[in-house]
Amino acid sequence: AGDADPADAPVAVELDGVSKRYGGTTAVDDVSLRVREGEFFTLVGPSGCGKTTTLRLIAGFEEPTSGTVRFAGESVAGVPPEDRDVGVVFQSYALFPHMTVGENVAYGLNFADPPAGVTRDERVAELLELVDLPDAADRDPESLSGGQQQRIAMARALAPGPDVLLLDEPMSALDARLRERLRAQVKRIQSELGITTIYVTHDQEEALAVSDRVAVMNDGNPEQVAPPRTVYREPATRFVAEFVGDNNVFAGRVTGSSDEGELAVDVDGGDETLRVGVGSDGVAGDAAATRSPEVSDRIAFCVRPEHLRVASADEAAGHETAAPAGENALRATVASAEFLGETTRVTLDWGDRELLVRAVDPLDGAVTVGFDPGDAHVIDVDQR
Ligand code: ATP
Repeated sequence: AGDADPADAPVAVELDGVSKRYGGTTAVDDVSLRVREGEFFTLVGPSGCGKTTTLRLIAGFEEPTSGTVRFAGESVAGVPPEDRDVGVVFQSYALFPHMTVGENVAYGLNFADPPAGVTRDERVAELLELVDLPDAADRDPESLSGGQQQRIAMARALAPGPDVLLLDEPMSALDARLRERLRAQVKRIQSELGITTIYVTHDQEEALAVSDRVAVMNDGNPEQVAPPRTVYREPATRFVAEFVGDNNVFAGRVTGSSDEGELAVDVDGGDETLRVGVGSDGVAGDAAATRSPEVSDRIAFCVRPEHLRVASADEAAGHETAAPAGENALRATVASAEFLGETTRVTLDWGDRELLVRAVDPLDGAVTVGFDPGDAHVIDVDQR
């Protein structure tokens, strides 16, 4: 761990044009990515996007149909899982019920010697300490909570001191509160050890919370590989924009552009012409949109709900408007609201489309929605 920039660290695991086909199904489609030493790297995406298959290819449970998996620069083609120096934790706890917790952790050492100068018992104690269950050695695994069992499964996977830790949805069987606690612990253990970790989850919030970098997968391929903040603020594609967090995606035609880097866009589904900022980050760097939008192009852009300011139409007619002079303004009506505690997630009808906004105070009826052109992010440009 430490302060070193992981971008400078050597490559620990590399996928180079890796595909995996099962009969007519392409589970993993020409994936190339590099995971750095010490990095917490997450594969996230909807069910069936190929996350688990990618992880199994790295672990060695599957061999690619084409392409190469490398560990520290060396191909591992044909190398079985037990010779890849990986520790693996699965969704199901998979602890042996007839063994004590200590015996379960020691089992992780069965195919390996403990690190030099340490006895097996000392190693087990060390690992139980690491996962914050120092007194659990003699307990029966079934007497532990689901989250505790997963920590023991992690201790077992870490016992031989693997180079790489692979985690496949280790929290998905737990309830929400346990999941949050466990993910903080997984993160702590990972940074304490500085171990290269590849994590699979379908939960985008979890991915953002724990990772150094995230690969957002769709249809067998990552659409964006970037740090959580970048994925959230500058989604590379429409899929990423909509999969990660709530978003409002607009499509329309560029009808004008200013010297200040603003576009006028006639949006589909509304009468409004909206102004969209294209600053240095206006166009996604690493995916679909590879050119700056120009007049007469069709574009898609997104605005996060928290960047939409809402005022009731009455207020807006008075002094306190949702959209200060120079901002965009849309007229919409409240359709439904979900109270979330800190904020309320409000769905608005805007023409025959919906907009998502966040509100603190209750909203009802006709509203005006404003946003700063600089808070719009262009995700796609189509030359016409
Ligand atoms: P989930 O979260 O549902 O596990 P995933 O993103 O991990 O999804 P994979 O399990 O990698 O996705 O599966 C990707 C695709 O490959 C799916 O269409 C799946 O049905 C198919 N697939 C995976 N393993 C096999 C297999 N052994 N035989 C045939 N098809 C498979």
